[in-house]
Amino acid sequence: MIEMQDVYKKYPNGITAANGLNIHIKQGEFIYVVGPSGAGKSTFIKMMYREEKASSGTVLVNGVNLSKLKNREVPFFRRNIGVVFQDFKLLPTLTVFENVAFALEVIEQRPKDIKRRVMDVLALVGLKHKVRMLPSELSGGEQQRVSIARSIVNKPKLIIADEPTGNLDPDTSWEIMHLLEEINLKGTTIVMATHNKEIVNTIKHRVVAIESGRIVRDEQRGDYGYEG
Ligand code: ADP
Ligand code: ADP
Repeated sequence: MIEMQDVYKKYPNGITAANGLNIHIKQGEFIYVVGPSGAGKSTFIKMMYREEKASSGTVLVNGVNLSKLKNREVPFFRRNIGVVFQDFKLLPTLTVFENVAFALEVIEQRPKDIKRRVMDVLALVGLKHKVRMLPSELSGGEQQRVSIARSIVNKPKLIIADEPTGNLDPDTSWEIMHLLEEINLKGTTIVMATHNKEIVNTIKHRVVAIESGRIVRDEQRGDYGYEG
């Protein structure tokens, strides 16, 4: 599903954020990406959805070679990937329903089918009763649920989450994790960068640790491995 071979990323300012990455991720895996701030976690996952382009090496995602992907082909490629951010990135002037519908690929879909699909995912994340609200009227946890609904509305095989619990209190973080677990159990691959030691050490999954742009540890059912 995801393959990186000898991947390097040097930013224009001269910083090398990926320093020879090699990894293989299979369909259905749940992976935590851990490591100190500035280690290159965001760069690593941004290269998976072509938010950043590798300077050299090969990145393959869903059979697509991202170094060969043309910029105009990126939106089409991203349809099969859901992305969840620490700060939610919802559109502030759109309602909950509209934020999710907006992300839905609407080609050749009847309005009735669009509405059903949006309501189905909002029900799944437990927000059916708040469809008409604006993001500013919701709690942080609810906003993250909307962003998860948005990320799964196109039924992607891969979800990439960059510190999805980073802005949430512990209880809400656990709720969001249980939602991601449910999605993963249905077969969706999840790659999640996180600083949440409690979560990583409790809900066990593969742990990939990055330091100075290198993978320094890659363990099935690993530990967080740093001081919380
Ligand atoms: P992490 O997510 O682990 O905190 P990042 O991938 O964000 O690490 O950053 C890795 C290194 O690359 C850091 O030194 C950071 O300052 C640098 N970096 C990240 N993004 C950019 C960018 N767009 N331009 C220049 N340097 C960047
Ligand atoms: P996060 O903490 O959520 O991982 P970052 O702070 O790493 O996010 O990055 C936020 C944004 O700033 C990203 O678009 C990243 O590419 C950019 N960025 C990060 N570090 C630098 C840097 N040293 N120079 C320029 N841009 C940077």
